[in-house]
Amino acid sequence: MDNCLFCKIIKGEIPSTKVFENDQVFAFKDINPQTPFHVLVVPKKHVSSVAEIDQLSNDEIAACLLAIRQIATSESSLSGGFRIISNCGVDACQSVPHLHFHILGGTRMAERMA
Ligand code: AMP
Ligand code: ZN
Repeated sequence: MDNCLFCKIIKGEIPSTKVFENDQVFAFKDINPQTPFHVLVVPKKHVSSVAEIDQLSNDEIAACLLAIRQIATSESSLSGGFRIISNCGVDACQSVPHLHFHILGGTRMAERMA
């Protein structure tokens, strides 16, 4: 999609710190980390959020989760665990309308999630 920030990052038109890439998925460091480790995992195909995830193939959906697993298991600071969040829509404060999964970790997080 032309005017999408994360599509531009995937295409390399906007710089990012890449941590993972394959045919279907791109992952990069969040510019404003909320935990010591904070990476965003996005499908290369543009869909706005989980609300539109039916527009991805099962392969593309699985690729996101497998990328999360690969990133998390290769990161020593996540050996104690990690949290995955995907904000969806206004009430969840989604600010970038391209599906993304936050991987948060490297610290002990709060029990409450909201
Ligand atoms: P959300 O609020 O769930 O839509 O998350 C969007 C995330 O994108 C936020 O955590 C931002 O810090 C992050 N973000 C915004 N612009 C960039 C950028 N240029 N590079 C990396 N992360 C970004
Ligand atoms: Zn996009």
